Amino acid sequence: MSRKPHISATSQSVPSGFARPANLIGSAWLPAAEGRTFESRSPADGRKVVGVFPRSGREEAEAAVAAAKGAYDAWRLTPPPLRGAVLRQCAAVLRERKEALSRLMSLEMGKPLVESRGDVQEAIDCAEYYSGEGRRLFGDTSTSELPSKFAMAVRVPVGVCGMITPWNFPVAIPAWKIFPAILCGNTVVFKPAEDAPACGAAFAAALRDAGVPPGVVNLVQGFGEEVGAALVHHPDVRLISFTGSCETGSLIAGACGQNLKRCSLEMGGKNAQIVMDDADLDLALEGALWGAFGTAGQRCTATSRLILHRKIKRTFVKRLVAAARKLRLGDPLNERHQIGPLVNEAQRERVERYVAIGQEEGAKLLCGGRRPAGAAFKHGWYYEPTIFDGVTPDMRIAQEEIFGPVTAAIEVKSFEQAVEVLNGTAYGLSSSIYTRDVNRAFRAIRDLEAGITYINGPTIGAEVHMPFGGVKNTGNGHREAGQAVLDVFSEWKSVYVDYSGKLQKAQIDVQA
Ligand code: ADP
Repeated sequence: MSRKPHISATSQSVPSGFARPANLIGSAWLPAAEGRTFESRSPADGRKVVGVFPRSGREEAEAAVAAAKGAYDAWRLTPPPLRGAVLRQCAAVLRERKEALSRLMSLEMGKPLVESRGDVQEAIDCAEYYSGEGRRLFGDTSTSELPSKFAMAVRVPVGVCGMITPWNFPVAIPAWKIFPAILCGNTVVFKPAEDAPACGAAFAAALRDAGVPPGVVNLVQGFGEEVGAALVHHPDVRLISFTGSCETGSLIAGACGQNLKRCSLEMGGKNAQIVMDDADLDLALEGALWGAFGTAGQRCTATSRLILHRKIKRTFVKRLVAAARKLRLGDPLNERHQIGPLVNEAQRERVERYVAIGQEEGAKLLCGGRRPAGAAFKHGWYYEPTIFDGVTPDMRIAQEEIFGPVTAAIEVKSFEQAVEVLNGTAYGLSSSIYTRDVNRAFRAIRDLEAGITYINGPTIGAEVHMPFGGVKNTGNGHREAGQAVLDVFSEWKSVYVDYSGKLQKAQIDVQA
């Protein structure tokens, strides 16, 4: 787990604007019970304090869960179209605050402004999509095997949901979870990542200001092992929705399993882009650059492997290295810059460890592999875009999630081998193939073991109305977004209405 280190602050605090430095419990913004706090600092300049937030624990988790439980009945009984109307208001407030929120995001977690704007836009899209769901939220009607009997299945809410989120999409991921959850009639306790508490607070404040009733969305700030674990173990939390590392996800799944709690997990990836010999190389190159180095590679769908047909490999890698060298690193709030810093020191050290491992394994470092030099980078966690060539599928840099601006080129001889290499990791989130051959494209759709496959597009670019999630160790069989997430945040109830006026026995009175 990553945590911001303490650096002695030399510059003034950055005003956090509407990001309230408190927990939101019911309608009250409160400090931690014993006044404990932690700081959020900018990864672009560790001297800048973005805000000071409550370091909550069990007591605060309990208060937040009690508030969510208290609000549950009134919210569950609010007609879904009215819940949808509240979501429409959320979209409006987020739209109004889009620029301010995006700036706060770039400052706090370091992705370039253009990407932060995309993050907030995703939350707006999500609020709008699920607001419409308030007038759908369809169930099924069916026939009965008995006369004068009616059968239907309806969605009912689950109860209090704990949302535990990472820092890399600090508004979009909470939105993906919270909007469908509250649309379905659940109430929520939201625990943002300790690396993006200001974004979490600003998001929660936007929801309150948009008219989400007190207690429907509560916010607790703090560390995973403290307040996060308290939520996971709380008996009144009926569901945990988690996005983050496999290590934490597996811990959470274990605890939820023991307590028979519903649990939806979105975790790591080792996503690959295949480039075949018939591909449009310009397009594939653009895709690889964006997929591997967008958000400095800190996306669960980042392109951390490039599987290249041997006929195009040399040219492709050469052009990719030239293009990667031209990417402009720097302050994410300056719109000229394409790559910001890594989120914290621990993350940069992790990337450095993997680069060393790659070299020890015999992979060839073609570019990057170091911190950029110069005064502009002195106080931030920057790292140069890094490309390895000569990688074999079993190397650790081809198997393990690095979560940084590092990609590994693997040469293959055929389409079949490309598919085998792509499938040869423990993960299965996103995948991509560049080819002009429609037959290969459809075979890839059929054979790639991944929750998402892009044809002639990079491994990143999910849209809110489509199911999002992965197979194998990436998840535990659930999906976020689209219609699919409604199955996470609602229970199916089957209803039989017997209007015959007599006792009728299924499987006994009538045998079809
Ligand atoms: P990352 O490497 O992105 O920080 P983590 O899986 O450690 O990934 O963190 C993702 C989220 O899970 C964060 O909000 C973090 O606070 C939370 N978390 C970490 N450890 C635990 C835990 N033991 N129980 C509950 N939540 C946790």
